Amino acid sequence: MRDRLRPLVAGNWKMNGRGADLAEIAAIRAAVVAGRAGQAEILVCPPATLLMDVARLCAGSPVALGAQDCHPAEGGPHTGDISAEMLKDAGASYVIVGHSERRAEHGESDALVRAKAKAGLRAGLRVILCVGESEAERAAGAALERVAAQLEQSLPDRVSPHDLVIAYEPVWAIGTGLTPTPADVAEIHAFLRSRLAQYLPGSGCAVRILYGGSVKPANAAELLTIGDVDGTLVGGASLKAAEFMAIAGVYRGVKRPAQHA
Ligand code: PGA
Repeated sequence: MRDRLRPLVAGNWKMNGRGADLAEIAAIRAAVVAGRAGQAEILVCPPATLLMDVARLCAGSPVALGAQDCHPAEGGPHTGDISAEMLKDAGASYVIVGHSERRAEHGESDALVRAKAKAGLRAGLRVILCVGESEAERAAGAALERVAAQLEQSLPDRVSPHDLVIAYEPVWAIGTGLTPTPADVAEIHAFLRSRLAQYLPGSGCAVRILYGGSVKPANAAELLTIGDVDGTLVGGASLKAAEFMAIAGVYRGVKRPAQHA
């Protein structure tokens, strides 16, 4: 039985959040400082327009800052894009790559996702790599096959477990209120764990695997205490500090080693 890893509770604000919403970040910060996240690491991923404000707001606190995407290149003629180095410069320590909304709305391939993951690592960011099957793939019994292919084709070659987080997010569970059964989550996470052990010999068991997709305060305890679930990537419920912290509160009182601090 592997040691439990320090859980990561990450909020993905997507294309939401304006200046007035910084009050929610301030409330998250205050709650984390007051110990309401227990052993969990708390990460907020606001839209790029708020990164520097959130960096200032969370400076000196345990709340980490992440971005939602990056361009593979370090800089140059890429209108509208942001490089991993620029995110690092803005104060981010994490970047999400391969979110299903980017894959669907921007046609991002596994190869592009891998290039973005490599860019994140190059810039000194920790990378949250998202995988997940569609509703049709799940119905066809092809969920494992799909996530295996995504992992194989988008995982960078050399990566320390410290710098990599996998987020399993079934596409059909994102923003729908639907969630897989705990047994299904356990199956996929154990499968991803075994694949990671294969790709990263000796360190696959130290990579955190998050579950994401319609996580709410009401289902958090059931989903986040499953064996190979090391935290969560939260969308809608991360926009309000009270909901987000209620989810993180699942890890209060849970004693875990401070790996990945
Ligand atoms: P949701 O989104 O929590 O709103 O379902 C999760 C995600 O897309 O990261």
